[in-house]
Formats: sequence, C-alpha cells, structure tokens
Amino acid sequence: MCGIIGYIGNRPACEVIVKGLKRLEYRGYDSAGIVTEEGGELFIRKGAGKIDELTEKLGFLKMPGRRGIGHTRWATHGVPSDVNAHPHTDCTGKIALVHNGIIENFAELKEELLKRGHRFESDTDTEVIVHLIEEELESTESFEEAMRRALLKLKGSFALGIIYTGEPDRLYFVRNESPLVLGIGEGENFAASDVPAFLEYTNKAIFLDDGEYAILTKDSYVVKNLDTGEIVEKPVHEIEWTLEMAEKAGFPHFMLKEIYEQPGAIRDAIHGNADVIRAVAEEIAKYEKIFIVAMGTSYHAGLVGKYLFQRLARKVPIVEDASEFRYEFEDLIDENTLVIAITQSGETADTLAAMKLAKKKGAKVLAIVNVVGSMATRIADLTLYTHAGPEIGVAATKTYTTQLTVLTMLAVELARVLGTVDEDYLNELENGLKSVPEMVESVLKYDGGLRELAESLAEKSDFFYIGRGISVPTALEGALKLKEISYIHAEGLSAGELKHGPLALLEDGVPVVAIAPSGRTLDKMVGNIEESRARGAFIITLGDNEELKRVSNAFIEMPEVDELLSPIVYVVPLQLIAYHLAVLRGNDPDKPRNLAKSVTVE
Ligand code: GLU
Repeated sequence: MCGIIGYIGNRPACEVIVKGLKRLEYRGYDSAGIVTEEGGELFIRKGAGKIDELTEKLGFLKMPGRRGIGHTRWATHGVPSDVNAHPHTDCTGKIALVHNGIIENFAELKEELLKRGHRFESDTDTEVIVHLIEEELESTESFEEAMRRALLKLKGSFALGIIYTGEPDRLYFVRNESPLVLGIGEGENFAASDVPAFLEYTNKAIFLDDGEYAILTKDSYVVKNLDTGEIVEKPVHEIEWTLEMAEKAGFPHFMLKEIYEQPGAIRDAIHGNADVIRAVAEEIAKYEKIFIVAMGTSYHAGLVGKYLFQRLARKVPIVEDASEFRYEFEDLIDENTLVIAITQSGETADTLAAMKLAKKKGAKVLAIVNVVGSMATRIADLTLYTHAGPEIGVAATKTYTTQLTVLTMLAVELARVLGTVDEDYLNELENGLKSVPEMVESVLKYDGGLRELAESLAEKSDFFYIGRGISVPTALEGALKLKEISYIHAEGLSAGELKHGPLALLEDGVPVVAIAPSGRTLDKMVGNIEESRARGAFIITLGDNEELKRVSNAFIEMPEVDELLSPIVYVVPLQLIAYHLAVLRGNDPDKPRNLAKSVTVE
C-alpha cells in the first residue's frame, strides 16, 4: 500500500511530485522517494521517514527535470529503510520504478534473476520487476514490449510508475489490483494512486482498470491492454471535488475536519441516492440469502445494516469480515445470493476478493462505496455511492455515517417494496433521516465539553463501550476509533455480555461508555450500567432519557431520535472523544502508527 505520483510536462517535476506525495501520504508513510530525469540521466533520492523531513534532508525540491515519479511506501516486504524505499533500479541504472502492491511470486523470480547474475540492492518484492524488464530489453528494441513481457510474468497486485532513460519523452504507468488514475492536463500529464494528488492542476481523470497500462507524454496519453498490447478507449471523468475539499480547511487535523463535515456529507448522501435507491431496492428485493461483507469500520456499518434489514425488511443478512467470507462461505454462494460489499475506498483488497468470488459464483453484488470509479464499482452489478467527498484521516468518520445513511435509505425502501412495515412508520423514518444532519450539528456543539471529558480520561488505559441491539455496532465502532488513534486498549461489546466475563476486568475508575438511546432495551441498559457502577466503573452515558443522569458520572445528552437512526448520531461524540484523547496523548490522529487509509493488500 502506498502512494504513487508521476508528472511529465513543463514544470519542475520535483515540485509537482512533492506536493502530490504530501496529498498521498495518508496511503502509506514509512518512507518515500523520487526519481526525475534530465539530459538522459536519472536522479534518485529516497529514504525512510516522513515526506516533510525527507524533503528537507534529501533536498527533494532541488531535483532537476521535467518528468519524474514519486512514491510513499507502506512496507510489505523488507523493513522501512533507505535502501528499501522506492524507486528501485535495474543493474544498468537506466530503468527506475515505483510499486504499490505485492508480487506473490517474487521469491522464485528473484532466485532465477540472481542465478543469472543480477545484483539486488533491496529486500523488497518490487525490485524483481525492474530486473525482469532489464532482461527482456536484451531481446527487443521496444521498451514497451520488454515491459509488457516482464509484467506478464508477475503474480500479485501492482500499480507501477516506470521511467527509462532510453526514451526521453515518456512515462509508463500500470495497474493490476492496485489503484491508479491518470490526470489529463494541457501540455502536461499526471498519474497517481488517487485524485487529490493532481487535482490542483487538472480535474480530468481516467481510471485505469486491472491489466491496463498507460504511456504518458507531455502532450498525449494512450491506454493499452497488458495482455495484448492493444489500445483501450477510456472515458475521461470530470472530478467535481475542489482542492479545498481535499485539504484541511483550517482544522488542525483532517480527522477533525471530516468529523465536522458530517452534516453536509449526510445531506449529500441522502440527495445523491434519492433518485436511485428505489431501483436498487427493487432489484434486490427477491433475495433471501444476503451477505454483507466489509472490513474495519465498514464492517460495523454492515452490522448496523443487519439490524435495519431485520427490523424493516424482515430479512436477516449474514455480516462477515470480507477476509473470512472468502474462505468460509464459498460453497454457500450461488445465483440466489445477494452480496452487499461496503468499502470506503472501493479498493480494500479483502473486500474486492470477496466480491470477485461472489461474482464468480453467480451472486448479485451491490457495492456501497465512496470513491467514484474505484475497483469495487467496476466489479459490482449495482453501486450506491456514499458521496462523503475525500476522506484523508486514516480513521473513518464521515464515510461511516454516510454508509449508515445509505443503508438506512436502502432498508426503508426495501421495506416499502416488500410491504413489510407500515408505510406511515417508513415515512416517519425517512423524515427523521432528513433531520439527522441537524442533530449531528447539535452534537458537534459538545466538542468543547467532550475535550474536557477527554482531559479527565487521558491517563486511563482500558475503556469499555457497551450497547444493545442496534447500538452494539456503535459500541464496537467507538472502541475501534479509540484503539486506532489514541492507542488505548478498548473493547466494544453487547451490554448483555458484560456479566459473562468482561465484568471481571472492571475496577475503580475504569471508563465504561454506555450507548443508551431510548428504545426497546433502555431498561435493560440501565441494569447493565448499574452492574458496572457497582464495580466502581466511571460511567459515561450517551442518551436522551434524563433518568440516565442518575446512574452516570458523565451524561452526554443526545437529541431525541428514532432508535433505528440513532447509530448515525450517537457515533459522533465517540469520534470526538477518540480524537481528543489521541491529540492529548501526543498522537497524530491523521496518521496512526501501523495503519494506512485504504488497505490494498490482503
Ligand atoms: N511491496 C512493496 C514494498 O514492500 C510495495 C509496498 C507498497 O505498496 O508501498 O516495498
């Protein structure tokens, strides 16, 4: 997983590349490197560390040339180090390339290449690619042909940016199971892992598909099929995201900015799907066997989706980690199966693999995705977009609440198609959903108070999040947010589970966050809160019933909202608590250690 940015045009390439790398840093950031070319010579600077440090230390901005490629790495093979940073070069030093992904058969390829006398500098899987191209170049004049032949020997995932001194006017970019987008400018062209990297210069984008490569010169581009070398006609998309949308807009961190963007994002999700939701609901209404597959925060959205489908459409989906689904459910998938895949980036490797398997078995696949044109949307039969705009913070926030919005709309419409629930109630829910953005706005006003609460909790080492029914996924998501950015141990669980084990861990002052909206199980929740209180736990309650104050050390008064809509509103204070705890503990919430934004390797 990493970020790639390539440039060819009239500007100093290093400037475009450094800016692009900074915008891609969320994709991976353990090391970075740049190659540029001038006068037939390659210039390479690379090292372990963050982009800003490296820009200063290695003088990225002093590199000559009008064409070049940059890379931020998130290591899969070989530790983050100066030699393992990309770009990698062949033995002649004429070819340099950067790579996002994993070469599965690199070990055997490397052994053969070593036997034939190639010298390797790094421990990466990537380096075999550049030596393979070097070797193919011995038997053909055409670099393109050599590259194609070499790449056909690879197994695994790769997005590549390649530069060759023998051809002064072009760059090559390849996509196979790792994202790559071309940016088409005037007298200049770009390629990157993601659109924000070049959005400042052009909003015209071409999304490459798996098994395709592009040749960019400053005035032209062509996309070809890797197997055949034949030209592929590709549509040019006009990207509507402005650059400000992809930048921090005055907030100290992307995560906080994105938390605050939620009211608008939820509105966009409602508007963006109003016209299409009926057709999708009609298409999926006949399926009884339904799987929801996702990872991480999207998986929690899937769990909320399950409650919504059960309560409204009287259908019981099985929600599975995409990574488990592939291996455990293969024999159960057939043409009577519906698979709903939820992925923010549309590039999550495990989810894509689950979708491909589902398609192979004849299932109908519906994707719920944020990134337009991403791989998931191309595999799926049907797509619903979450319309959250770009999310840069690694911890998902607005993409989660918009996923919940879309799932709510879908469950309501499905219930309408099936006639499973009283129409008045469905109208009430639909209107309720329209006022959710305002409710989120009112909850965001608690930010200051939540920061103070976080200050009093900054030294705690364990948190418990409890909920019942549709609030169980909110508890799981609250705990996940805390873990991933504040590095505090946290568990989310159904409140009923407490006394089956976890209660043994409660002692004086351990924070227990109770998600307690009014609804079917409020009385039971109060009982669970009492149990925790009796063990000395510090109780933080989110709810709309005044009674809860009595049993809480801290009470976060939530707006009155239908229980089925509550997950969208109730997760917001949990995001803010996690954010403030991360900052108070000196962490960068946008770049949690060991994690990256879109997990494009399995
Ligand atoms: N597998 C390559 C490496 O470990 C690329 C990782 C990435 O996508 O950044 O260097």
